[in-house]
Amino acid sequence: MLSYEQARQIVLENITSAGIEQADLVDAIGRVLVEDIVAPWDMPLWDNSAMDGYAVRSADCNQTPCKLKVTGYIPAGARADGIEVKAGCAVKIMTGAPIPSGADAVVPFEETEETSGEQVVIQASVVMRQHIRFRGEDVRAGQSVITAGTIIRPPEVSMLASLGRSRVPVFLRPVVAVLSTGDELIEVGRTPAAGEIINSNTLALAAAVREAGGIPRIIGIARDNLESHRDKLREGLKADMLVTSAGVSAGDRDLVRVVLEELGVKQVFWKVGIKPGKPTAFGVKDGKPVFSLPGNPVASLITFEEFVRPALLRMMGQRQVLRPTFRALLREDVKNRESDRTILLRIRLEREGGQFFAAPSGKQQTGLLKTMVNSAAIAVIPPGRSFMAAGEEVDVHFFGSHIDLI
Ligand code: AMP
Ligand code: MG
Repeated sequence: MLSYEQARQIVLENITSAGIEQADLVDAIGRVLVEDIVAPWDMPLWDNSAMDGYAVRSADCNQTPCKLKVTGYIPAGARADGIEVKAGCAVKIMTGAPIPSGADAVVPFEETEETSGEQVVIQASVVMRQHIRFRGEDVRAGQSVITAGTIIRPPEVSMLASLGRSRVPVFLRPVVAVLSTGDELIEVGRTPAAGEIINSNTLALAAAVREAGGIPRIIGIARDNLESHRDKLREGLKADMLVTSAGVSAGDRDLVRVVLEELGVKQVFWKVGIKPGKPTAFGVKDGKPVFSLPGNPVASLITFEEFVRPALLRMMGQRQVLRPTFRALLREDVKNRESDRTILLRIRLEREGGQFFAAPSGKQQTGLLKTMVNSAAIAVIPPGRSFMAAGEEVDVHFFGSHIDLI
């Protein structure tokens, strides 16, 4: 049986990036830029004021206080053409407005006193170049400012817009077909009768796809017969990636792998040395990844997190596709009865006195969904360890919304 690390590596080796499209800046958020962005112009484009105040000649203000004649006003958005600061004079100026000729410093309002409309007293010493943002100080024309491979965040959006780019080439968001299997499943919306289970996996997996940046396409439920599986899996294979849940164990009605093979999906692996999530299968058809996840809601989400999410991020051109790993100290002893498998422990991540702690978030039976709801991270208990004591260090992958501060 493949180890956790081997399985993850094999998945990533089989992933090729999705196509490229031009995206509007807001829709480019979280996506990977495909080309270097070269500045077409200087930023700022002209010398401008960093403060509301007065543009002055610093040489006029060698003594403090000094009195200057106010000869003009340049609000934001105005031009400074034809305005000059002559010796002994000052021009009122607003933040962002162009510096008029003659001036070499700006004195903020807070350091001045306007005596009448025509005179201003400068009360603090003035240093040449103070409170001026100079042309090209931030970015020079021709400079490469954002490199290919960068994930676009709000600061990149700001820079791209400032450089005049309204659209940029980014990797496509893959369409991910999500389908569940099982005769026991009903769709959410009514109270289950005896023997019925609400199909929560489809919605949870679709949400996980969207959270990772993909576009979920819900295919519905394949019933536990060959025709229904053929129909739904064929439909699912039209997407860029297919993710199924349940029907992948060794039960006599577990038809997913059988029908996928019939439809031309080459199985790359089945079964991984992890708990939960052992029956996970992975295959490819014409380079298209197909994940068959276990049906148990906890197992399907954990295997999505560990295998599908990295694959999806890689398709979208990301380089760092794994969560950052913390080292944390176990709060409790952990026993591993099947120590040939890696245990993916559902935990809360706590921080106390500058140290991270991994606190198991409840009973770890795969059937218990509440433990998953109460988790912010997965602690990796390596195989070969039948017992780990409280205080021992483990690797932790944080996927939650918060760290508990103790
Ligand atoms: P299976 O892998 O088909 O043996 O299913 C394992 C367990 O997961 C069973 O208890 C199923 O009822 C449950 N299960 C399977 N599919 C889903 C689903 N789509 N939503 C919620 N639970 C499911
Ligand atoms: Mg089933």
